[in-house]
Amino acid sequence: MANIVAIVGRPNVGKSTLFNRLIESRKAIMDDVSGVTRDRHYGYAEWTGKFFTVIDTGGYVVGSDDIFEGAIREQVEIAIEEASVVLFMVDLDTGLTDLDKDFASVLRKSKKPVFVVANKADTNLKAQMSSEFYALGLGEVYPISSQNGSGTGDLLDEVVKHF
Ligand code: GDP
Ligand code: MG
Repeated sequence: MANIVAIVGRPNVGKSTLFNRLIESRKAIMDDVSGVTRDRHYGYAEWTGKFFTVIDTGGYVVGSDDIFEGAIREQVEIAIEEASVVLFMVDLDTGLTDLDKDFASVLRKSKKPVFVVANKADTNLKAQMSSEFYALGLGEVYPISSQNGSGTGDLLDEVVKHF
């Protein structure tokens, strides 16, 4: 069975930044430039000798005022269908939002392992704020910084246990 990790979450939480870090390639294109992303990007990654595919889900138009529930479902359904592990990314700068809760309610029905990833934990102080996201009811919360890499090793250690 293929090892596939999908990164889902609302716009601007840092999905593409993590994707680029994981695949260690500058070739991946950031989604938020064109704002017309229904596409998704695939890359290959490795951690402690385990190889896996990463999917960066764009999902819907970034910057649109209306983010349709259907679009969320579409993105999550893709992830659930294709992925062996789902990384559900949330944002410590904005805190918990209604859209995060919408994602969570769909993801809770999934039988795939879901990791709640609290991004933008650039400092220890910010990492401590991640406890807010336990309210999503999806278990452990992993504070990371996609930008500087902190916490990503601890997250990946747990992710690759599923492979
Ligand atoms: P996406 O829409 O979920 O793919 O989010 P992007 O990866 O495009 O990132 C959205 C914004 O958040 C960009 O301005 C990034 O530079 C910023 N960002 C991403 N990760 C981090 C992080 O770990 N810390 C901080 N401070 N900013 C981040
Ligand atoms: Mg993106």
